[in-house]
Amino acid sequence: MDAGWALAESRETLATALAALGAGLPDVRRFLVTHIHRDHYTQAVVLRREFGMRVALGRGERPGLDVLSRTRPGRRHHREQLLRLGAREIVRELDRRPTPSDDPSEYEYPDDWVDDGAQIVVGEGSPDRRVLEAVATPGHTRGHVVYADPAGELLFAGDHVLPRITPSLGLEPAPGASRSRTSSPRSSSCAPARTRCCWARTGRRVCGCTSGSTS
Ligand SMILES: [Zn+2]
Repeated sequence: MDAGWALAESRETLATALAALGAGLPDVRRFLVTHIHRDHYTQAVVLRREFGMRVALGRGERPGLDVLSRTRPGRRHHREQLLRLGAREIVRELDRRPTPSDDPSEYEYPDDWVDDGAQIVVGEGSPDRRVLEAVATPGHTRGHVVYADPAGELLFAGDHVLPRITPSLGLEPAPGASRSRTSSPRSSSCAPARTRCCWARTGRRVCGCTSGSTS
């Protein structure tokens, strides 16, 4: 789920986590990615070149991916967009902490486009077999999806639920309106990104989360 950013530190973190489960990067057969942002998607693209696993992404991300895979969006344009929308505080923060520019080569297309309501079997042939349901949750990005695990009463929420900065509506590289979905599938526990560990009952305010350095 969400391979992370294509950085050496991210790869090492993932490898370490897999080792704790007695596995390694070559054992990963598929990445289910919640959205197009580079800190969730690009590591999946890079690892796929090396290990050949499949990558799945919400179909609604296609227009954004069409743009990102061809061009490197100008930082100046992005900055002007934010200022026009009144996000001066965010611009100041970005100026203080510059990050590497996007690399178009890290935005290849996924193997599978995920549609709202898709049933995804994981762990086929093992006692841990589960059927996840993909639910389209546009807002943070146009094609954001979350993956619900009804049997495990767990929701892999990506950046749809961000305990500290929700709601987080993003700017899209491709034109078009985005809308936010406020309802979530029935799940008892929620596993958002940007926290090391966060369990929250659906329908209640997320609380007691441990902030992490993951992004
Ligand atoms: Zn994001």
